[in-house]
Amino acid sequence: MKPDIYNAIKYQARSNCELRQRSCVDCKADWQKVVRIKDHETNLGEFDVYFCRTCNLGFTDPHPTEETSGYLYEAKENSDFDIIRHSFIDKIKDFLGFRLIARLAPHKNIRAVLDYGTGNGRFAMSAAKVFPSARVDAVDYQVDPPQLLQIAATSSNQVNYCDAATFAEQHVNTKYDIIILRHVLEHTYHPVNLIKYLSERLDADGVIYVEVPNLDSGCAKIFGKYWKGYYVPRHIYHYTINSLKEIANLCELEVEIGRNEMPLMGNTISILTGADKSNTFVQGLGILLHPVQLAIEALYRSSTCINARYRRLKYKG
Ligand SMILES: [Zn+2]
Repeated sequence: MKPDIYNAIKYQARSNCELRQRSCVDCKADWQKVVRIKDHETNLGEFDVYFCRTCNLGFTDPHPTEETSGYLYEAKENSDFDIIRHSFIDKIKDFLGFRLIARLAPHKNIRAVLDYGTGNGRFAMSAAKVFPSARVDAVDYQVDPPQLLQIAATSSNQVNYCDAATFAEQHVNTKYDIIILRHVLEHTYHPVNLIKYLSERLDADGVIYVEVPNLDSGCAKIFGKYWKGYYVPRHIYHYTINSLKEIANLCELEVEIGRNEMPLMGNTISILTGADKSNTFVQGLGILLHPVQLAIEALYRSSTCINARYRRLKYKG
């Protein structure tokens, strides 16, 4: 079913480069077509994914205009708003989340954590559990908090949700030890501006953790137009390790690159067969096939996700 709200989305061709912040006219010859892929989830049509070798960035073409992109998320039916169940998959996600967050801590005295682009709020809740004495701010574009954080707000005041506009007004001088952007930057229209903006809210020893799907992933090559990581048209940019390094240069930050895996075989099976991804059989098969994903990535010396830890430069000049 395609809600009417999607008819309000307008599309435009890519004409400027976000990383170089200028027109892409001069680099069009360097555009390499990666794949043509349809929106498997909400049937919004077919889109091309290109990689520009001049700009070191992949992009979806055409892409929803920034002004109308909010309609993509208003129905809250896409995977960014996955309903929290207490399934086996959710338990694995929580376990991986706890482990990741604990490893992110730049020091022992974590006072404030920001989960920017919190989605269903699950990761913000995990951060609150890992750092019980820290305040956790969760931000997204919706005015209303996700259900999970609504429930949390009534039981404690450790996790506070606010929308991005309110955050910009009220947290000008707040400093964070950890700022998390998990699977946010590929949805963001101006990733460089966003990282610059957040780095101003970073404590001197703090870290910004960015995680995105890897355009160079072996599974992306093998599964092609059935690969979940492209997720058009919601993913407007597609990153490689060089893209994440380029952002560090442009934002004058130090960067440490990492690789990580996200179990995506269940999603891939659902795209290949048309079966609902929340189907228990599909989820179970996804878990069983996770070693296949790992084997493919090992073969390609790659990973399904890449991450960057951005820190302030210790000494300038
Ligand atoms: Zn370009």
